[in-house]
Amino acid sequence: MDSRPYSPSNGAVKLRRSLPLALALLSLLAVPAVSRAQQWPPPHHGFWGPPWRAPVAHSATFRIDGSVIQVDFAPGPLDLSTAQVLDWVKNAASSVATYYGRFPVSLDRILIVPAPGREGVLQGTTWGDVGGNPAFTRMRIGQHTTADDLNRDWMMTHEMVHTAFPTQQDDHHWIEEGLATYIEPVARVHNGLLPARKIWWDMMRDMPQGDPPPGDKGLDLTQTWGLTYWGGAQFCLLADVEIREQTHNRMGLEDALRGIVNHGGNISQNWPLTKALAVGDAATGTHVLEDLYARMGDHPVKVDLTALWKKLGVVREGDGVRFDRSAPEASIRKAITAMPATGRIAPRGYTPAPVPANQSSPGPHVQTVAGAGGAPSSRAKLTAMKKLLTRGAFYLAQSNSSREGKGRKARLTPW
Ligand SMILES: [Zn+2]
Repeated sequence: MDSRPYSPSNGAVKLRRSLPLALALLSLLAVPAVSRAQQWPPPHHGFWGPPWRAPVAHSATFRIDGSVIQVDFAPGPLDLSTAQVLDWVKNAASSVATYYGRFPVSLDRILIVPAPGREGVLQGTTWGDVGGNPAFTRMRIGQHTTADDLNRDWMMTHEMVHTAFPTQQDDHHWIEEGLATYIEPVARVHNGLLPARKIWWDMMRDMPQGDPPPGDKGLDLTQTWGLTYWGGAQFCLLADVEIREQTHNRMGLEDALRGIVNHGGNISQNWPLTKALAVGDAATGTHVLEDLYARMGDHPVKVDLTALWKKLGVVREGDGVRFDRSAPEASIRKAITAMPATGRIAPRGYTPAPVPANQSSPGPHVQTVAGAGGAPSSRAKLTAMKKLLTRGAFYLAQSNSSREGKGRKARLTPW
């Protein structure tokens, strides 16, 4: 039963979204398919086709490191200027290109869809290899979104990180979301858009959400929201630290991931996870990724985060953290957030927006569903679930079978 209001053009839709509620909701709710008349969101200007064929009012294109970023605007009102939206996309593209040493795909098409009467960055979804685009992202943003909303947003960067890893079968969804969850803030620090102290505080607060739930059988076999996003992020943090331990801090996770991208492993490709991890390990001359996968893929693993923060020298202090420079692996902690030796990669002829003043210190956690800063949290999840249940408007979107024949993927779009 496929309630999605269109049939994807091929049988291999690869879909990533920055709304981490889908898995949690699906695990809790048995949502029947709804008729077209009940579906939400409503068709955009009467258009029910695939999003990559939706009407476009105007477009802008920029280049970054040999790749083309095409930003299309669907019809609809926006308080923001086109230049402000482009600055937001350019900052995200620059962060991702700086982390990976290049932009991961040759062409990334971004469709900006205004949501009348709303404010904030509402939702992002990324597909690979659709409509002739190696990567395609749809971002829904509210009509009354402000430049501050864009400066605080993490979703645009999260979606672009998804372009940098080969498409996986559903049981490996945790690696796709774990990478995006872990790398998005790190890449923004590399690019000078976030202070390191803020992301270590965020990690200290949010990483425990990836701890094994009751009955956990490992990352491949337990597809809860917490394990998918934060269990996957724990895997990535451990990988980053262990690669640096084994290479005397000469290399990190970014070197493994650059190796995968440089071998053509981006979202437009379907690779077995074992191949991606082996290519990544070859790039660092280690077996860290494959060994971690052997440990965590089909076994519950409780990562000792307290010991990890201690050896990295991240110490909680009040509503933030301080760094203990005498900690045994303080240099590894520092290297994780240091700009890569290859330097910052900026869009051509582009001057980045300054870091907003309100991001200079860790603030209270903000709801991710509204698109504000910070990583997905259980509090945001619960708030959003309440909103959904109150509103009673669900849109069950089930894409076609993936190329690997793993069956259907179900996703909820809650607005
Ligand atoms: Zn995602």
